[in-house]
Amino acid sequence: MLSWNDPVAFVHGLSPQQRRVLKTLETQTVADLLSVLPRRYDDYSNLAKIADLKAGEPATVKVKIKSLNKVPTFRRRMVIVRGLLEDATGAISATWFNQPWMLEQLKTGDEIYVSGTVTRHPRFGRSFVSPIWEPATAEVVAAGNIAPVYPLTGQVAQKTLRKITKALIQDLTEVPDDMPADIKRRHAMPDLLDAVKWAHWPDSLDQAERGRLRFVFDEILLYQLALRVARNRADRGGAPTMPFDEAFAKTFVSKLPFELTADQKRAAWAAFQDMGASRPMRRLLQGDVGSGKTVVAAFCAAMAYRAGLSAGLMAPTDILAKQHAKTLERFLAPHHIPILLMTSASRFLYENGNEEKLTPAQARERLARGRVVAVGTHALLEKGQCPSDLGLAIVDEQHRFGVAQREALTVLERPDGLVPHLLSMSATPIPRSLALTFLGDLDVSVIRAKPAGRKPVATRVLVGEPGRAMAYGAIREAAKRGEQAFVVCPLVDPSDVLGVKSVEEEKSRLASGPLKGLRVAAVHGKLSSADKDAAMGDFKDKKSDVLVATTVVEVGVDVPNATVMLIESAERFGLAQLHQLRGRIGRDDKPCTCFLVATDEEAPLARLKVLERTNDGFEVAEEDLRLRGQGNILGLQQSGRGAFRYSRPEDVSTMVQARDAALELLREDPLLENHPDLRAHADKLRETAHGE
Ligand code: ADP
Ligand code: MG
Repeated sequence: MLSWNDPVAFVHGLSPQQRRVLKTLETQTVADLLSVLPRRYDDYSNLAKIADLKAGEPATVKVKIKSLNKVPTFRRRMVIVRGLLEDATGAISATWFNQPWMLEQLKTGDEIYVSGTVTRHPRFGRSFVSPIWEPATAEVVAAGNIAPVYPLTGQVAQKTLRKITKALIQDLTEVPDDMPADIKRRHAMPDLLDAVKWAHWPDSLDQAERGRLRFVFDEILLYQLALRVARNRADRGGAPTMPFDEAFAKTFVSKLPFELTADQKRAAWAAFQDMGASRPMRRLLQGDVGSGKTVVAAFCAAMAYRAGLSAGLMAPTDILAKQHAKTLERFLAPHHIPILLMTSASRFLYENGNEEKLTPAQARERLARGRVVAVGTHALLEKGQCPSDLGLAIVDEQHRFGVAQREALTVLERPDGLVPHLLSMSATPIPRSLALTFLGDLDVSVIRAKPAGRKPVATRVLVGEPGRAMAYGAIREAAKRGEQAFVVCPLVDPSDVLGVKSVEEEKSRLASGPLKGLRVAAVHGKLSSADKDAAMGDFKDKKSDVLVATTVVEVGVDVPNATVMLIESAERFGLAQLHQLRGRIGRDDKPCTCFLVATDEEAPLARLKVLERTNDGFEVAEEDLRLRGQGNILGLQQSGRGAFRYSRPEDVSTMVQARDAALELLREDPLLENHPDLRAHADKLRETAHGE
């Protein structure tokens, strides 16, 4: 009898050596150990007779050792052991390399199981090469079974771990299972005890999968509960309602310098619906770089202003905040809507075509007066920087989906207890499986179609020095036409976190070599925000032809005259990030090219070629998710044992079930007051997932 939270030390039948292994694994409880599910399984369940073995097929046989000898070899470090194995139906040879200890552990006449793929040997006929083996004693572990293959840390042999988990599974009689029975029934989920046993030592691969899916289901359900309970809690204050003003909407649209795309209209209209309700909006506006999210944000801010309230737009950097303020002014000035730009260094008020510099005190006073569109960095979230009549908060996340910021926003409360509506903009197209899980509590609008007339960025994957030479040629051509180029380089040495060395070295190499005669400038992370702004500003004003940068440029700066981008060591970046980067060009109707230069032929070129094939960020994101896992896409890789330990992209249907189950539970019990165990789990999960 063993239960989930017992110390592993209680387990019977472990040898002192196995107990030592458990110590090195820092495993304290049965749960610690069994929460790590197998990576895959080896199927040794099919016990065969020697006479039936066929070359090329995997099989397990129970045999008696007829002979076992060391074979002389000419290579000094190599030890070959050859055995002749037999059962009632025939004999077969087996060869093992570099396992001399076998000769001490086994002798002629012993019965063992061997598993492996049968090959045809030129001299010995049918033969096993390095099959796994285990003695056919009373405690057979793998043979005759479907055996788990665990992710190993290197200190522990697969064989040992199998022995341990098998012993645990046999003794395990109790796993606390907080899932309400009706939910398990409705979604055909096994009890947790069964799921644990099935996932580790299943009778069939199908059973293993059903066991694993229970873990997926629980993981997603808890995650959903965590997000939604937090939201329900935060939303209790209710939001200021901002009624939709149709006449104003028509005027706004008619004064835009372009026609809104269908996706933009749909996104704006969905937001207006939300803003008209007293439940706070939590909407994510997703669209590739350049898809036109800003005008939607401006439209929403204008609607908030019409309703007599303030809006706040938050950008990741000062330079982006300035850019946003300018863009917003273009859209909002015709309607006499004042804009207050707050950066770390200065504050400006744009009103009726005037630009006025404000002192900190004046800015505070203006914020307190309310009914303004405030633009700034996330510092706007800090107390006293936010208009007190904030009706709508807009966050431009760019590609960094800021978990921490989103958390902050869910608790952004006005002094009067009301909760502002939230519109979050992200240029990371998020695949469906993730949208359902990570973004569980958000409503999503997608801008998929780009504004008409936009040319896709032609992308070419090149290799090494010859490839680079070709890209330099294109940069020179562009410069001749009066156009500009970005060169993005990765960090060369790990201590150079800010990219100073990489960028400066590349800049002087280019200016004195391949791009001699062109004006080459640089930005990197060490520059002060003012210097960075100045460098970007100079580039925008065409004071340089080429801008060498680290990935700093990916955060949204708009330079329509840049038509070429060269990305060095492209294989070091994720696909989504490369896609993000190339979005910095192609912001105009000129033809644009992005060169992805891989270091050498060894680089994973097939992966990069995905970007040659498609300009659709969602397709790129799906591919990235498949190749790199979800943590990377969301920038969550540091969050240790993240929220998604068991779920994989292909588990979408189970994820949907889990989400639905969460909704069912919360419909009756929005704060899980009647399900304290689930709630405790969900709260704990939130801490581990979000407590970076
Ligand atoms: P992002 O989604 O990356 O924030 P922006 O909002 O900066 O994209 O828009 C990119 C460019 O496209 C801007 O210059 C903007 O004025 C322009 N734009 C946006 N919507 C349209 C449209 N419907 N028709 C034409 N141009 C548009
Ligand atoms: Mg933008």
